[in-house]
Amino acid sequence: MSFDRPPAPPTTPPAPKWKPGNLWWLALALVALFWMRDLWVTSSQVQPIPYSEFVRHLKAGQLESIKIGSRFIEGKLKAPTADGRTRILTTRVAPELARELSQYDVRFEGVVESTLLNELLSWVVPGLLLLTFWTFMSKRMAGQGGLGGLLSVGKSRAKLHSETDVKVSFDDVAGVDEAKAELRESVEFLKNPKAYGRLGAHMPKGVLLVGPPGTGKTLLARAMAGEAGVPFFSITGSEFVEMFVGVGAARVRDLFEQARASAPCIIFIDELDALGRARGVGPLSGGHDEKEQTLNQLLAEMDGFDASTGVVILAATNRPEILDPALLRAGRFDRQVLVDRPDRKGRADVLRVHLKKVTLGADIDPDAVAALTPGFAGADLANLVNEAALLATRRGADAVAMADFTVAVERIVAGLERHQRVLAPHERRAIALHEMGHALVAMTLPGADPVHKISIIPRGVGALGYTLQRPSEDRYLASRSELRNRLAVLLGGRAAEVLVIGEASTGAADDLAKATDIAHDMVTRFGMSAEVGQVVYERQVSRFLDLPDGPGLERGLSDDTARRIDAAVRAFVDEAFARATAVLTERRDLLEQGATRLLVQETLTEADLLPLAEAARKGSVPS
Ligand code: ADP
Ligand code: MG
Ligand code: ZN
Repeated sequence: MSFDRPPAPPTTPPAPKWKPGNLWWLALALVALFWMRDLWVTSSQVQPIPYSEFVRHLKAGQLESIKIGSRFIEGKLKAPTADGRTRILTTRVAPELARELSQYDVRFEGVVESTLLNELLSWVVPGLLLLTFWTFMSKRMAGQGGLGGLLSVGKSRAKLHSETDVKVSFDDVAGVDEAKAELRESVEFLKNPKAYGRLGAHMPKGVLLVGPPGTGKTLLARAMAGEAGVPFFSITGSEFVEMFVGVGAARVRDLFEQARASAPCIIFIDELDALGRARGVGPLSGGHDEKEQTLNQLLAEMDGFDASTGVVILAATNRPEILDPALLRAGRFDRQVLVDRPDRKGRADVLRVHLKKVTLGADIDPDAVAALTPGFAGADLANLVNEAALLATRRGADAVAMADFTVAVERIVAGLERHQRVLAPHERRAIALHEMGHALVAMTLPGADPVHKISIIPRGVGALGYTLQRPSEDRYLASRSELRNRLAVLLGGRAAEVLVIGEASTGAADDLAKATDIAHDMVTRFGMSAEVGQVVYERQVSRFLDLPDGPGLERGLSDDTARRIDAAVRAFVDEAFARATAVLTERRDLLEQGATRLLVQETLTEADLLPLAEAARKGSVPS
């Protein structure tokens, strides 16, 4: 819901330009003109005479030649008549009827029933119908009225979402401090593009905002324009994809043209995934010419302009994994900014922004509400405040009370649970212990990469929590002990769960897969197992490629060797689990304290973890 978003101001229609569309009208007018002229010539220049009179001329042998049309018969006279005419014209009469009538001395002539009206009806009415239909369609498609819409198929609708005076600022976006910090540099650049180019450096052209729905990506993009005080051109990826092939590409061209003319400015492409889906994958990829053309045009435009012009291209997506890799290449969207769901403190900040708009009772504490709403994104919180205000209004109260918030939270949680985004308390505790387990093992074992951040905020689709380790230096070589430590860190999550809760959970599946891979490599590629020896064994070819005579593929792997490899892999993993358990058993107090802190705070940074790391290092280290 975006109830706080001011409606975009109406924009003035573009000044009429001489576009190819106008040529069509010229052509149409010419055709009409010729047709009218033709009609004029045939019907009025030569006055038709009665048929019987025409026959008299014919019988008298005065005609040199005759031209027969579908409605008229034209005769050329041998000698001009008294009034100087050389041609005579008559309307046709059916031949039998003419023969019949000519027996009697009667004057007769054919009549063409109001030719003009007929023509008008048969030409103009369908034409008008077509035009009406066309106008109607183009009005719907182009979102512009009347013929203007018809003539400007292909004119970018980005124009419709152009704002010159954006009122949103970074203060309106809360709980995403890291993203804001990353975007600040681009804001400074937009404020003064010339000064930025002083030393020859140039800004990244494209910045991709990545994050789950409702975390404020769209809001953040507008806030950037507001902060920098530059025009904001926005368009949604799905709007590019049009009925007519080529229209999307024309839109892109137009969008960039407009933006370049009003630089410095921001171009914002929302829902980039609708447009930038990887090309040529999936069974249905054949029919996406239009999408592909549009995407290609976008890539070409991004490559084709100089970053120093002062145009920053922002895009947002919640599915970065499906984007065409070409979009992420250097010089395109090469800078990615993560806009994550807020942690507890972040949620309190978001609530403070939205609570300003409602009348609050004295008992409302943003921090207390934040504690009730783990897993809520910014949009959910905005929705929550609105929902609570509605409840209070319905109650007839003067101000929104804490009770309104508790009821509203329950309602929204029920909605979110349908999308499986809210975790039960015992699950959150298990996740906190798991992540803390990884972190403690990493902090204890010498030489393991330092822990940068731990979080129990679900990220992306799969992970429920995560521990970020930052390699302290680029590594090209890993020693056996380093790999053993890495294995122990990977198993630290499960070890913590088993140690404190007494039972394993499914949460470690990914860790186990990674650990097994490393252990397998240690045994079969790096020759690090004494039992198997320093021999390289090819990995078994994947089942997908299995030939009918399957066993032949396990070249050089006797049953016995295979068994020894399996045993050695297992020994490495088991040993890692035992080491992790030993580390954690000795530091169980630290583990539980840390997990509790993580449950409250939801994310712990390197600085937060410092005391914990020091305490962890004091104990013994299993060999
Ligand atoms: P997204 O584009 O990431 O899906 P939006 O920017 O459209 O999310 O967010 C929708 C609404 O939710 C915003 O207009 C705002 O009211 C609210 N909102 C979302 N995130 C935040 C935030 N970080 N701070 C303040 N309000 C937020
Ligand atoms: Mg959005
Ligand atoms: Zn884990």
